[in-house]
Order: sequence, then structure tokens, then C-alpha cells
Amino acid sequence: MADEHDAREILKPLVFRLHENVPAIVREVLLERGWTEFDKKEQDDTDWNLYWRNSPFRMTDYCSIKPWQRLNHYPEAVRITRKDYLARHLKRMKGAYGSALYEFSPVAFIMPNDYVRFMAEYSKEKQSLGRRPSYWICKPVDLSRGRGILIFQDIKDFVYDCTVIVQKYISNPLLISGYKLDLRLYVCVTSFCPLTIYTYEEGLVRFATEKFDLSSLDNVYSHLTNTSINKYGASYKKYKEGIGCGCKWTFSKFRSYLRIYGVDDLLLWKKINNIVMLTLLAVTPLPAASNCFELFGFDILIDDKFKPWLLEVNYNPALRLDCSIDATVKRKLLHDIVELLNYKQIDALRQNQVAGTKAGRTHVPLSTPGESALEEASDLLTCQGEAECTATSSVQSALQAAKGSIHKVVTQTKKTARGHPRKTLTSQLRERMNMPKTSSQAKAETKSKQLPGAVYYPHQFVQPSRWLPTPEFWNCKLTTLPYFLSDKDQKPIPRVGDFVLTFPFNEAALQASRDGIDVKSIIQEINKLVNKDSEIDLVI
Ligand code: ADP
Repeated sequence: MADEHDAREILKPLVFRLHENVPAIVREVLLERGWTEFDKKEQDDTDWNLYWRNSPFRMTDYCSIKPWQRLNHYPEAVRITRKDYLARHLKRMKGAYGSALYEFSPVAFIMPNDYVRFMAEYSKEKQSLGRRPSYWICKPVDLSRGRGILIFQDIKDFVYDCTVIVQKYISNPLLISGYKLDLRLYVCVTSFCPLTIYTYEEGLVRFATEKFDLSSLDNVYSHLTNTSINKYGASYKKYKEGIGCGCKWTFSKFRSYLRIYGVDDLLLWKKINNIVMLTLLAVTPLPAASNCFELFGFDILIDDKFKPWLLEVNYNPALRLDCSIDATVKRKLLHDIVELLNYKQIDALRQNQVAGTKAGRTHVPLSTPGESALEEASDLLTCQGEAECTATSSVQSALQAAKGSIHKVVTQTKKTARGHPRKTLTSQLRERMNMPKTSSQAKAETKSKQLPGAVYYPHQFVQPSRWLPTPEFWNCKLTTLPYFLSDKDQKPIPRVGDFVLTFPFNEAALQASRDGIDVKSIIQEINKLVNKDSEIDLVI
């Protein structure tokens, strides 16, 4: 009788909880995987596994987290995603560790505070003979989607009416068939303490939809690569030579393109990964919090010398589906995120007495750690690696009892389921962009696909001998074993789907990040990588 009860408990699907305005695709993917949606009226307040919001959580949400739960934001992640905060952090790092390493972010000034410094720089440039004055881009610090952006060369055209960041405009971007592009790179941080970073190998290349032209700085369709802008451009739907219709490519297509022209895309990828690590190091340490993750959208611009530049880091990178490329990339991205969250069968119980013990928590993995393939929802509740299951005997017998009927249940679940403000470049688009977002698009294929071409590892991951959380780690008020460590060896899983572990990248980096974070030693390690990479010439 007791066994039957436990078996029924085991059959509980994982439960997601969505706050308002979460893109429809998040719900769709979780339902596809056999999850059910949290029902406030029917369910206990803690009876969920994943809470996804577009806005930050309250501190109480972090304090009351249960071992079977995950939150999609890390406390204070905004330190990196607000343009002025990021600029300050990067400037500090430049000062501390040298501008050579941190020269990947364009020179920036925060207005109005840095007005005098900016004017000094501007005047110095103007007075240096034989040098063409720089172009500048002015962006409101807390807006996104290209809103309120202004590009100028002459100071008389520079006006602002809120806190803005003025960045050197990269006026020699890499162009494909005359069109500017940038990369939307997805980065998932599963922990800031110890720092654990995954970079997504697939991503989006976003094109401007009119040819790059420095003589028309007011043309948003030529200078900005935001989809939220370009989808309203007259050329968006038209076939554009060398680009195609729309305004997006996948990373896979871009890498193939680079290889055709003899560009070392692997070296470019390594440089981009260094940018990611150095940027995240700039905001560490963040307050310790367990069972969180943060999906960041890094915007990277590549110039005509193949140097990658960091433009900004986005909180809640857009998960809207504007085209079939979005659907392919973002759907798989979400599936891979759920895999990365490493839910165990025991998490479906959502019970303290089983899953809530601190050091003694052991799990039956829902998927084999490190497995790269995206699994079908039915695999979610398939009891894999049963030999590893060391939970209480009642749970074990319940698992046995339930095993035969799990597949059936999952299949069923799957079926249901300064002065005067001037008109900026984008002000005319604001109204349209503030319109409600479109509902979810047509379903894209859900099965895992190996990307065409080579598999890229940013750095050879040197397997650390053993990584067990230290006493200091526990002092971070963590309540559970970190979910991102593999059950087999207690090390971060090197690869999950298209997510590749970027940090820690070797034993030394691992050691320097486990007992608190020794940024200086980590930077030394990164310097070694950079020096090694710079020995290789990047040529077309
Ligand atoms: P937002 O948060 O409003 O999207 P971004 O910083 O991402 O602001 O800038 C929007 C777009 O403007 C980028 O996608 C890129 O095309 C262009 N851009 C931004 N900064 C620069 C820069 N420093 N140099 C060249 N282009 C830039």
C-alpha cells in the first residue's frame, strides 16, 4: 500500500511556474518535456520546480528556495546588464589588470557625470591633425531594443535628456555583402560562487537590413542590428543579396561563411569566450545564492580586422520568435537550459524529507550527466542509472513499482499539454516597438541536431582531479548541493547539449575559484591563454 502511494508520488511531473509576460515558447518547451504548469489555487506554494520571471526575484524568494527548485535569475545580475554599471566595472578592471586584456569594450563615458572627461577626449581628437574624428554612439543606460539611440560625429549633434552612455562607435564593422551584423551569444551562469559559466555554441547573427553607410548616421536600418527595429524595415522581407530574406543567420551558417573565406573561426570563438569570462569576472563576487541560473545575452560586434567587441550584456535576452531561425535556435536553447538544470527524478517529489537534506542529497539522474543529446520528454522520467540511486529504500521500491507505467504517463502528459531633447534615431519606432509582443510562432522541430561542421571547444577542458565544495562554499548559506555538479564526480558537467563549460577552463582556474574567487590568479591564467592564441595569426 505504502509502495503504491510512493509510486504515485514518483509519477508527479515536474512543475513550472511562470510570471507574467514570460515568452510563450518557455511554456511550450516545458510542456513538450512533460512538465505541468503551477496552479496557484490548487497547489501548495512550494510545489514547483522552476520559477521563470522576466523581472528580478525578491530576496525572500532566494532565502526560501527548496532543494528541488530553480530560479532563472541570480541576485544582482543587473550589475552587468545595465550599460553604465557594466562600463564602470570594465573600467575598473582595465585599471587593475591592464587595458590590453580589457580592450574589448569600446571607450565609454557615462553622462552627465563624465561630461568633462568626454569633452576632453573629443577635443583632443579634434586637435590631432590628420586624424579623422571618431564617431560616437549614445545609448540610454536602462533601455533596450535600440530605443533612444543616437549616433554622431560632431558634438553639436549630441543631445541627451536622461542618463546615457556615450561609446566610441565601431565604424569599421565586419560587413557581409555590405550589411552590418552582430552576434547574440547566449551565456548561462549556473553559479557565481564558485563561478561556473556555460557558453552556447549556437546563436544568432543579427543583420542590419540596409547597407552600412557612414554618410547617413540617422538611418537605423543601416547602423543598428536589433531585430526589434529591422523587422519594421522596408527591406526586411525582401531577398538581400548575400544575406537572404529577414535579418538573421545562425552561428553555424556564419562559421561556415568564415571558413569559406579562410578565417580561423575557432580563434574568433576563443576570443569571444575570453570576453565572456573577463566580463563576468568583473562583477564577481555576487551574493551567494543556491539553485539559481542566469541566461545572459552577450552582444558582440566583430570589426573588419576580426576583432570582437562587447557592446552590452542583456538581462532576459529576447525569446520571442520572429522567424524560423529564432524558432530553431531558441527552442533548442530552452531545451538545453532545462537539461543544464540537471533535475533528478527525486526533484519531482518536491518533498523536504526526501530531497531536503543538505550534504546527504543523492539523486537518480534524469539524464546522464554530460550527455549532449537533447532527450525526449519521455526520457525525463525514465529511471536511468538506477544503480546510483541511494535514496531511501521506500523511494527505491516506489521507483521500481512505478517504472513500468512512467513512460505511459509521460506520453499522456506530452499530448495535453542636455538641453532640449532632439528626435533620436529610434524615437519614431518607439510606439510600434511598445506594442504587445506577437504570440508564439509555429512550432519548430524539437529534436536535437548536431550542428553541421566541427564541434568547437573554446579551450580544452582540463579535467580537475576532484571538485568537492569547500567549507567556505557551504558558508555561503547554500542549502543544497549545487545542481550543476555531476553526480558521478562532483565536477561541473563539461557539456550539456550545445552548452559548453567555459569556466573553469583548467585546474588552476578551478582552484582559484573554489575558495572564494581569486580574480588575480584567474586573470593570469586567462593571460596565458590569450598569449598562446595571439601567436596564431588571424588571416582571411
Ligand atoms: P540596446 O540595448 O538598445 O539594444 P545596444 O548596445 O545593444 O543597445 O545597441 C544596439 C545596436 O546598436 C547594436 O546591436 C549594434 O548594432 C549597435 N551598436 C551599439 N553600440 C555600438 C558601438 N559601440 N559600435 C557600433 N555599433 C554599435
